[in-house]
Amino acid sequence: MNASMMQQPLLVSSLLIHAERHHGEQEVVSRRVEGDIHRYTYRDLAARSRQLANALQALGVGFGERVATLAWNGHRHMELYYAVSGSGSVLHTLNPRLHPDQVVWIAEHAQDQVLFFDLSFLPLVEAVAHRLPGVKAFVAMTGRAHMPAKADIPNLLCYEELVAAQPDTFAWPLFDENSASSLCYTSGTTGNPKGALYSHRSTVLHCYASALPDALNVSAREVILPVVPMFHVNAWGLPYAACMVGAKLVLPGPFLDGKNLYELFEREGVTLSAGVPTVWQGLLAHVETNGLKFSSMRRTIIGGSACPPAMMRAFQERYEVSVLHAWGMTELSPLGTACVLKASQEKLPAEQRLAIQAKQGRAVFGVDMKIVDEQGQTLPHDGKAAGELLVRGPWVIASYFKGDGGDPLVDGWFPTGDVATIDADGFMQITDRSKDVIKSGGEWIGSIDLENIAMAHPAVALAACIAASHPKWDERPLLVVVRKAGAEVTREQLLAFYDGKIARWWTPDDVAFVDAIPLGATGKVQKNRLREIFREHRLPTA
Ligand code: AMP
Repeated sequence: MNASMMQQPLLVSSLLIHAERHHGEQEVVSRRVEGDIHRYTYRDLAARSRQLANALQALGVGFGERVATLAWNGHRHMELYYAVSGSGSVLHTLNPRLHPDQVVWIAEHAQDQVLFFDLSFLPLVEAVAHRLPGVKAFVAMTGRAHMPAKADIPNLLCYEELVAAQPDTFAWPLFDENSASSLCYTSGTTGNPKGALYSHRSTVLHCYASALPDALNVSAREVILPVVPMFHVNAWGLPYAACMVGAKLVLPGPFLDGKNLYELFEREGVTLSAGVPTVWQGLLAHVETNGLKFSSMRRTIIGGSACPPAMMRAFQERYEVSVLHAWGMTELSPLGTACVLKASQEKLPAEQRLAIQAKQGRAVFGVDMKIVDEQGQTLPHDGKAAGELLVRGPWVIASYFKGDGGDPLVDGWFPTGDVATIDADGFMQITDRSKDVIKSGGEWIGSIDLENIAMAHPAVALAACIAASHPKWDERPLLVVVRKAGAEVTREQLLAFYDGKIARWWTPDDVAFVDAIPLGATGKVQKNRLREIFREHRLPTA
């Protein structure tokens, strides 16, 4: 029997329509590539998105065709988010930190029709433009005054001119909510990157779920500054969630160092931020060195890689900024779990609360998860058994773009490639990527635990633990460490720091001090590169 309810498709454009209608005066503030601070409202964002939608039509971009961006977090990128998806085309956020060859490969694979770019990426666009014959136009996201005088780019257009030439009337079309809205490629540490093609429906459902109190808990009362780039899984959905709830949005552009971020937090009264752990190191170092405090910041979402408890402690105990640890991936739009304590856990002693917060958290409604052993048998949720994490839900991919890599699902579940435990309260904890697990004498050692301990040492700026080959045990942990500027610590002192904190046989066999650890395009440690660098490393055998 069919229900008698309205069939209103869940479309990305509805988020913008809602923001304009109910939060029209709410501000969107951007630190632009040009260096100025730009300020307007959701009403302006909506009007300019409609102008841009007209411009896309004038450029001949059709329904379902891909429009690429190479851009920081800023109001023009927001306009593209809504104009492209809202008019039925597909927003493809390219990662500008990739090598030009990878950008060419991905843009060709996606069959991008138009490419919009921030001026910071002019050299990159010059390097790739002639290798992308399918791209009809390259649009510099700036006004006439800042257009490059000389640029080796065919069909170069000016964003502000394109927008100004169009009326701000545009009726957002209604279409099937299962149509594609945006496209993100995985970081692709091995093989070619693969595309996750989101739908309007999956994006809006993800948005609802991520805004819930036990998820990211966003509301009209928040001032949100996503440090996570809009090219990293849609800035974790915050550009959509901000419109859904009518929060003030502050977009930092390319200025992501501690000093600039801190100034923007303070000037705009930012209450909530979000980013990967490596980005917070710069901010914490800046506030620490200058004896600063946050006057408005209350919460920060940390995910993308494990948040070391030492970082949580610094935010929470020294700066009264509570940390929300979250886990997700490109294939999940990205949010899967968020670590919000249950009422009974709030009363626990601080150390126990911190131990729970180090977990990646509980599944948000819509995401179903389980862990399995190597034979695919479901493991118990006892907080001890570790196995591969599988997920399913309406914002989890069913296949990669163009069917690349074949069917990724196992009995209808998506294997995440993460190894995790799930406790009796439903809190999931990642112990490793399955590719990064250290197998010592047939037993697994979770590298994240070892890194978290090292990161708690006052002299350690960044630590990564990888498998090094061992004649007897196959693999043993090697700790790679970047010391804090001016700090001293020896191999023996670091290894002694593990005493009593972990089973003795988990203690790393050796420590390698380095000046820098390679980070990938989304700020994560590249363990495959580290393993290559230390392939010949000989562990002490005593
Ligand atoms: P990406 O698709 O590039 O965002 O990468 C997703 C992967 O990042 C996941 O499969 C995890 O391995 C890792 N990841 C994301 N969030 C966390 C977290 N909070 N703790 C540990 N690993 C994480």
